Formats: sequence, structure tokens, C-alpha cells
Amino acid sequence: MRSFLTPDLKDEIRRKVDLVDLVSAHVALKKAGKYYKGLCPFHQEKTPSFHVDRDKGLWHCFGCLRGGTAFDFVMQTANLTFPEAVQELARRAGVRLERTPEESRRASEREQMLRALKAAAAFFREQLHEPRIGTPARDYLTRRGIDGATAERFGLGYAPAEWDALRTTLTRKGHQSALLERAGLIQPRQRGEGYYDLFRHRLMFPITDLQDRVVAFGGRTLDPDGQPKYLNSKETAAFSKGKTLYALVLARDAIRQADEIVVVEGNIDAVTCHQFGIHNAVASLGTALSVEQVLLMKRFAGRAVLVYDADAAGMAAAERAMALFDEVELPVRVVVLPSGDPDAFIRADGADAFRALLAGALPVFDYQVAMAARRHDAATVEGKVKIVDDLLPALTAVTNPVRQAEYVRALAERFGLREDAIRQRLKARSRSRTPEHPSVTVSPAPATSRAMTVDPSVVITEGSAEIARSRAEILLLRLMVHEPEVRAQVASKLDPGDFSDPAHRGLVEALFVAPNEESGRLQERLNEKEQALFLRMLFEETTVEEKDKEKVLADAIAYLAERAPAALRRETLAREIRDAQAAGDDQKVRQLQMQYLKLVGTTDLPEGR
Ligand SMILES: [Zn+2]
Repeated sequence: MRSFLTPDLKDEIRRKVDLVDLVSAHVALKKAGKYYKGLCPFHQEKTPSFHVDRDKGLWHCFGCLRGGTAFDFVMQTANLTFPEAVQELARRAGVRLERTPEESRRASEREQMLRALKAAAAFFREQLHEPRIGTPARDYLTRRGIDGATAERFGLGYAPAEWDALRTTLTRKGHQSALLERAGLIQPRQRGEGYYDLFRHRLMFPITDLQDRVVAFGGRTLDPDGQPKYLNSKETAAFSKGKTLYALVLARDAIRQADEIVVVEGNIDAVTCHQFGIHNAVASLGTALSVEQVLLMKRFAGRAVLVYDADAAGMAAAERAMALFDEVELPVRVVVLPSGDPDAFIRADGADAFRALLAGALPVFDYQVAMAARRHDAATVEGKVKIVDDLLPALTAVTNPVRQAEYVRALAERFGLREDAIRQRLKARSRSRTPEHPSVTVSPAPATSRAMTVDPSVVITEGSAEIARSRAEILLLRLMVHEPEVRAQVASKLDPGDFSDPAHRGLVEALFVAPNEESGRLQERLNEKEQALFLRMLFEETTVEEKDKEKVLADAIAYLAERAPAALRRETLAREIRDAQAAGDDQKVRQLQMQYLKLVGTTDLPEGR
């Protein structure tokens, strides 16, 4: 299946794809020196260790050690096979690939699913514009003040009030019913054969992934008594609810620009926000927010504003969400709506009033204080006690002691209480609770070297030669990776066989074979371990200063060529001495010790360098 793809074609695609552009769809990258840095999309982290080298077209994460080319990035983010990733990037780069009918047929299930979802979105959109059929949905949009341009931008549609309008249309276009079922568009009938459409008489909101492909739908019923009011696609091979945010693709640029993300509950709230010029708004897809969703936000924004409904459910959801933001360490503020939802507020009071609300959003703790003050009478002693008691869980949850002290002080000031009185209640509370996280037992680090006494005069540190050797190998490799001209110099003095670590040896071989090859192509000839090593070194700064380079290089080469083999012989001897001692063979022990002392006389023991 790879056969259609020549190395040249692969290079052409790689050269034409801007890796920074490609990655930026998933991560907000910031320029840092010659690289771009951001939060890794593959592991959970709070400080950026994900690096992109735009010129070389390579990326590497120091946290999870993943890395590679644009192909690897697309394979891992979109969960594609290599041929699929090639197709995707070729399309992006405008490179034409020959594809046999056989290959087209073998396009994966996921690709077929995405095509079916795209066709479904087109069908729903058409229905919305049908003069007669689309009337209820258009009326609803008019009532909610959503204009045609906005509906178009969000790809809004209408699922007609029929049992199998979608299925009939899509199967006629060649999409199999079984696939449509797996894509969450239709369901098997409970009695008898056949299927029925999952979404009926609903306003349809296509949900897209970060590549702007439709992966799911949200549908709002247009029947006043319809249940459920909002219906989302189930999880499929193309859609993971907990990792997706509604409207993120449309909001992405505005989020980056403002460095802030506005989070609302309903799809319609997000649509309204955008229509009224608040372009950095996304919706949480109706479900409670997940850690992954908050991490996804953090990839694009430095802070967040939660705008949840003013009812009890909305406030409870906001409380739960705040804990997640705290966990992920994405600063968050909360808007207290006077009533209803953001959509209703914007339409009644206008975008400027809403913007004022956003600007006046409260930091989490202030929000919690405001809510507690709403519940109790702060004018009485009992009321104050109750307010403080309500806030104890939130105060306990604050992991940063400086911040906690700050909160206690603010609380005392606001309600005219003594700080130590609050602190006492806090202490009493934490004492009465069993710890949620038992302390972690840390086992001692394994010893890297072991001293062994052969003779009172000769102490051998087993393993130190190995460490010194590995250091010399890494030093040389790093210099060779960064500076192609060093490769020939090392190759004239050393063999790949002089490197003892298998991954080091593999990388050295590749560097010797093609000393002038560009990094992107070179790394494709390496196995997984060698690749990880290569990328790590490529993104690490060389620690050797220019003026010391020649000497360091000569020393490391000399060490591997001469001293390392001698050190290895010494270690072998030491092992033999130990074995002879264990066997009680005194004569052999003496013999070996003589050999050892002779060796030590000619070469000194390498100290870790
Ligand atoms: Zn990572």
C-alpha cells in the first residue's frame, strides 16, 4: 500500500506542509528561540515541553518523548494509519497522489464514517432551506434572532419530522445502513426490521473536530413537548464527547488573540455569542466538563470565563467545573447571570451588556463567596458562621498555601471576622477528614554502581566505566546530530561498533551512512528507539561551548577508541576475580589480581566525565 509513495513524493509533501501551521490547529504555539513551544497534545501537562522545529519539519515532546515528522503528528492526533496520514497531508499540501480504485475501496471505516457525517450535515442544511419542510426550523431561528449568515457559518440544519428521511437519502448515495448506525445517525427498530433516524424534527448543530470535519451532531427539539430537549450523537470512532468542544474551530483564532476562552453550556448560547461579536466562545456539549476538555482549552487560552445558566443546575455545574480548572491550573473566572441563559441575556440586553458581564466576571473564590452570601444573612452572627462553613470545602481544596492564606484574609475582612477563627475551623475540618490521597511511598533509587573490595589496596567501582562510556557516546552523538561536519570527523576515527548502546550504535550508523542527509529524511530510516533518541538530541541544546568543542570532541573519541576498551577489560577482570573468590580458588584470584594491577598501571581508572 506504501508503494505508490516514493521517497521524493514524501519529501515534497513534507516540505510543502508548514508544521507550525499544522500543529497550531491543535496547540497554541509560541516562538521560543529557534523553536516553537506549546502544551503537548499527547500527554497531560501544565508547562510546555512540546517543541516544533519549523525549518526541519520535526517535533518532539520532552515530557512523553513522542516526536517525528508531520506524518507522525497527523497519525497520532487524528488516529490515522500511515497511508491515511499521507493522503491527508498530500491534500493539504496540494500534492496529487495516484490512488488505485482498490486503495479507494480500502479507505478505512473512519473515513467512510466522516464522509457519511459530512453528507448528513449537507442533507440537514438543505432541509433547513426547503421552502416548506424547513419552515419550523427557520421560524425558530428567527424567534431566537439568529441570522442567515450565522446559521451558514455554523452549518446549522434541520432534521425533518419523518422516520427515515436521512437514512433514505444517504443509503441512496451509497452509505450503508450499518455504517450510519455506527456513526450514530440511525437506530435499528425495536420491533421488526429496518432502522429509523435518530434526529427528527430538530434544529441540527454539526460538531466538528479540530480539522473542521463534522464528527457528530447536537439536535435541539422543535416540539414544545419533545424529549430530550437536547440530543447529542453517541460516542463513535470519529467522536469522543469528553475531548471535543462545540465551535472550537470557529473560535480558535479569537481565543488565541484574546488569550481567553468563554465557555457556555448550550450550543445555541455559543452561536448567539458569535453572532454578537463574542467570537472566543465555545460550548461544553451539554455534558459536564471533563478534564480533557479543560486541557484542550488550555492549549489555546491562558485563562477562561465560565458563563453558566443562572439556575441551580447551572450553578452546580459551575462549581464542579471550577475544581477541574483548578486541577489543570487554567485561571478561570465566573460570570453570574442575573437570570436565564447567555442567549436570552444577549438578546434582551445586547452584546455590550454581556461584554460588561464578562469583564466583571468573578475569580472562583469571590464567586463562591458571592453565592454563599446569597444563601445566608451576612448581617447576623449565625449567617456569618454558615457562610464560612459553606466555604470551608472550597478553602480546603485550595492547594497553594499562599493563595489559601490570601483567601482567609479576604474572607475575614469582608465579613468582619477574625482570621485565626476561620483558620481554626479550617483546621478542625481537615482533621476530621480522612485524606483522599494516601501519601505515596517513594522507594529508594536503585544504586547505579556497587563498590567491591578485591584487595585492601584495590577498590573497583563496578559500572563507573559503563557510565563514563555512555557519557562519551552521548556527547559525540549530540555533536554529530547538531553539526553534520562533525560526522565525518568521528567516522574517520571510530566504528559504529565502538558505541556500546544499541540505540546509539543504530543512530551512529545512520549518521555515518548519510552524513549530509536532512533531518526529516534521516529520521525515517531509524527504528522507534533511535528516532526518539535522535529527536531528543536534536531539540536539546548542545552543552559544549564553541571554544571547547575541538578538545571535547578529541577527548571523547580517544576515550571510546582507547580507554573504554581498557576499562571494559578491567571490569571483566574484576568480575572474574569476584567469581574466583566466590569459588574459593585462591590461586586464580591472585593470578587475576596481578593482571588487574598491570592494567591499572598502564591506564588510570576513568572517573565519571
Ligand atoms: Zn508529550
